[in-house]
Amino acid sequence: MKKEIFLCAINNILSGTCLEDCKFCTQSVRYHADIERYNYKSVDTIVEEAREAQKQGALGYCLVTAGKGLDDKKVDFVARAAAAIKSEIKNLNLIACNGTASIEQLRYLKSHGIDSYNHNLETSENYYKTICTTHTWSERYETCQNVKEVGLQLCTGGIFGMGESEEDREALLHAIASLNPQSTPLNFYHPNEALPIKSRNISRDEALEIVKKARKLLGEDKLLMVAGGRELLFDGYEALMFEAGANSMVIGNYLTTEGDAPSKDKKMLERIGYGVATTCHE
Ligand code: SF4
Repeated sequence: MKKEIFLCAINNILSGTCLEDCKFCTQSVRYHADIERYNYKSVDTIVEEAREAQKQGALGYCLVTAGKGLDDKKVDFVARAAAAIKSEIKNLNLIACNGTASIEQLRYLKSHGIDSYNHNLETSENYYKTICTTHTWSERYETCQNVKEVGLQLCTGGIFGMGESEEDREALLHAIASLNPQSTPLNFYHPNEALPIKSRNISRDEALEIVKKARKLLGEDKLLMVAGGRELLFDGYEALMFEAGANSMVIGNYLTTEGDAPSKDKKMLERIGYGVATTCHE
């Protein structure tokens, strides 16, 4: 039987309005990156886009908002969008990605249909101070613990290639594993001239080592996704990342960068001998 790959799609429902200073992020208003910035999309648009993503094969659908974390307005909006999607579309795993979140806010999202919460640790605790000064790594870790506390599935990972050392990479992978997440996105830094981090210090071979180590640390039954940066590092070499242990990928566009067309990705999977998963295990 063909190994099956789980596809996930991302919808940036509030873009580019963040006041924080994460040096890798085009959504920070501080760096004036040339991206589309908008306030909340309409709920109808979000439902239509979710329907389209499912048609393209997505099993997971992630509602992302820019900003440090949830506030009353944001949590209400994401909950309304989630409830609308759940009432109209069946068998779509709904993920919220809205920054730092309290137990109460996460309970509210769960009660409105959110299945999973994504909050990335981004890098090691030690290196985090170099790439962000407006909030702490421990706040990130705490949100991940809150996710587990309320019984949502946890999706947490990070970004590699932002100037971190080998030790930082190891520390990040161990920190992710300590949270025992259901799914882990591995992102590889996509340089943008507006951002303070100008280049990417990671090769394809190093990225493959990270995928292998992550698979070993996280266990065989977990989702391990190659997310942002896939097209930069693995275009034409996708089979290597799946052989290394990845079993999931993002289709369509990322938050502020374009991805390959989903039809191209599906052809790629067929060509290298993989199937598209049609149900989540959980
Ligand atoms: S808090 Fe999130 S949206 Fe804001 S700059 Fe950092 S990574 Fe980007």
